[in-house]
Amino acid sequence: MNLLCTVVYNKNMLIDPFKRPVSYLRVSVTDRCDFRCEYCMAENMTFLPKKDLLSLIELERICVSFIKLGTTKIRITGGEPLVRKNVMSLFENLGGYLKNGSLKELTLTTNGSQLEKHAQDLFNCGVKRINVSIDTLKPDLFGKLTRRGNLEKVLKGIYKAKEVGLKIKINTVALKETNEHEIIDILKWAHYHNFDMTVIETMPLGDIDYDRTDQFLPLSKVKESLEKYYTLEKSKHYTGGPSRYYDVKETKNRVGFITPLTHNFCELCNRVRLTCTGKLYMCLGQDDSADFVSAARSENWEVELKNSILEAISRKPKGHDFVIRRKQSPSVKRHMSVTGG
Ligand code: SAM
Ligand code: SF4
Repeated sequence: MNLLCTVVYNKNMLIDPFKRPVSYLRVSVTDRCDFRCEYCMAENMTFLPKKDLLSLIELERICVSFIKLGTTKIRITGGEPLVRKNVMSLFENLGGYLKNGSLKELTLTTNGSQLEKHAQDLFNCGVKRINVSIDTLKPDLFGKLTRRGNLEKVLKGIYKAKEVGLKIKINTVALKETNEHEIIDILKWAHYHNFDMTVIETMPLGDIDYDRTDQFLPLSKVKESLEKYYTLEKSKHYTGGPSRYYDVKETKNRVGFITPLTHNFCELCNRVRLTCTGKLYMCLGQDDSADFVSAARSENWEVELKNSILEAISRKPKGHDFVIRRKQSPSVKRHMSVTGG
C-alpha cells in the first residue's frame, strides 16, 4: 500500500485520511487496577498475564516513535497506571522529551489511590496537570462504587498533588440515581479547590455485572440541574477531545461534559490509544487495531515502529458508533481499562 496516499506526514505532523492531525497519544500501561468501579469492571476480573505486557522500555520506544512523528501530548493511563511497577521510570524518561521541547505535555489519569506517594516525583518529571477520577464524596458510596477504594486516601493524594503544584481536573462519571444528585456538590468542592471538572457519560465498553441502561444518565439532565444553581457559559477552551467546556460564572472555573452517546465527538479527533500489550486503537469506539509488538521488540525498532505507525494512522476511522441498547452485549468488547480512558 502506498501509505502516503492516505497518511500525510509532513512538517513533522501525522495527518489521518480525514485530514485530522494526530498529535495525542494515550498509553494504557496496565489493565490492572486496585479498584473495581462498577461501571468499568466486573467484580471478578481476569487480568492479562504479565508476560503479555510490553516492558516499560518497549512502551517508551513506541512513545518516542510517536514523538518523532510529531506527537506533542502523551497521557499515561490504565487500568490504574500508578500500580504498574517502576512506572515512574517511564515518566522520568519521557520527561526528557519535555525538557528538550519535542513533547509539550506529559500527563496522567489516575484513581488517586497512589498519588500521595508519587505526586512530587510526577511534578519533578515535568508533569503539570493530572486527571483524578472521583464519582462521589460520600465515603460509603465511594467504597461501594469502587468496590475497594478508600476515599480518604484518594483525597490525601489529591491534596498532596495540589500542594506540590500539579493542576488537577476531576473526572466524574454521571450515574443515574447513584451520584445524580451529588454532582453539584462535587462541582462545588472541585471549584472551591480550584480544580476543573469533567462529567462523563457512561460508555458501553466491556461486560460489567449490570445492565448499563440502568446507569445511563444523559448529561443534558446533569447540565439542566447545574443550571438551576449556576450560570454556565460556553467556553472558548477546547482540547481537541470529546469534552465540551462551560465557564461557570459564579465559581470562575470550568466544567466539561463528555457526551459520546448523545453527541458525536469525532470530527476533530486528534488521538490514538496504545494498550499495554502493544496494540494501537485508532478509535476508542471501534475494534480495529494495529499490533506494534514485533516492531517494538525489533533491533531495528526505530524504522519498524515508524512504518507501523504510518500504516495504523492510514486506518484511523471517521468515527465511532456506540449504541446502548437494553439487553444487548456492549458495542465494544474491551473494557475502558484495556484501552485506557
Ligand atoms: N484508573 C484511572 C482512573 O480511574 O482515572 C485511569 C483509567 S480509567 C479507565 C479512566 C477514566 O475512564 C476514569 O475517569 C473512569 O471513570 C472512566 N471510565 C471507565 N469506564 C468507563 C465507562 N464505561 N464509561 C465512561 N467512563 C468510564
Ligand atoms: Fe480502575 Fe479507573 Fe476502571 Fe475504576 S475507572 S476500575 S479506578 S481503571
